[in-house]
Parts: sequence; structure tokens; C-alpha cells
Amino acid sequence: MGKWCKVFCSCENRRPISAGKWPDYDSYRRNVGAPAKTREFWENHVKDLYECGHRAGIFHETWPGDILRIGFALERTFKGSNIQFPIFRKLADFSYYDDEVLEIAFEEVQDWAVEVGHLKDIDAGRQFFQYHEQKRFLDSLNEDPFLYGDLSAALQECERLIDTCRRTGNGILFSL
Ligand SMILES: [Zn+2]
Repeated sequence: MGKWCKVFCSCENRRPISAGKWPDYDSYRRNVGAPAKTREFWENHVKDLYECGHRAGIFHETWPGDILRIGFALERTFKGSNIQFPIFRKLADFSYYDDEVLEIAFEEVQDWAVEVGHLKDIDAGRQFFQYHEQKRFLDSLNEDPFLYGDLSAALQECERLIDTCRRTGNGILFSL
């Protein structure tokens, strides 16, 4: 679940270079000559390069599956109430997605940071939900285990995205 999520850069020289100079691997190899890297390296590091150094003008990209899992678990935990964790739950509600893409706007990112901070306190045992909510939340997380790491690792990834938004002034795009 979840294909990608990304934050674009805001660099002044945010313009593709390889499209004009090297539209494909063979033209890259011809132009660069002996120092040219392998086709695999080109695919992973050179293709879609922008003048500012960001590939395809993307400042940060990651896999959102584990972040969506947190949203599903919170939806199941607080299904009677709409006020708890609205941003995480929006991510887990596919009706908000337009053509399988949802943007968390820059203005919403601050609210999301508060949600992430709250969950970090829960994860560290500094705060607790009410008894039944705490149990439902942990049971939901255990039913749908994280693919990469755990709750703590997924929250760190959220913080990385939030930091990227603060540095670029851009929102976050999520794709299903
Ligand atoms: Zn850039």
C-alpha cells in the first residue's frame, strides 16, 4: 500500500538538464566519454537530473506504506470521533485522494507535526491514550506489522518529511 510520497525542491535553478543534454543513456555516454558510468548508475542517479542537483526536482522521496499503516490504526482506534489525528486519518482515507494522489499542504504540515510529536510520546511511554484506545491502537499496529522497522522508525520518516517541508516551503504528495 502506497507507492511513493515526495516533496519537491524550491531551488532557483530547478530546471531539467539531462533532457536537453542527454535525453537517454547513449547520448549521455557519447557526451561524457570515458568517465561515463554504467547504465544502471545512469538510471538511478543521472536520469532526470535538474540543474540544482535534485533528480526530477524532488527534494525528498520515500515509501509511505508504513505511514499509512499508522493512519489505519488511528482510524480504527478513534473511529467514533473526528477530532483526533485528522491528518494521519486523512492519509488513510482514500476518498480524499484525487487520481490516487493526495497533497498535504504546507499549512497542514504544522498540524501533522503536532500529531507526530504526540505519537512519539505514546511510543516512548511518556503519554498514554485512554486504556481501550491504547489497546485498540497497539492491537491494530500488531495486526498490520510495519514492513521497514517499527512505529519509531515510521515516525522518524514522518519527521524527515516535515523537516523537508520546512526547508522548501512545499507540501507533501502521497500516492496510492
Ligand atoms: Zn532543487
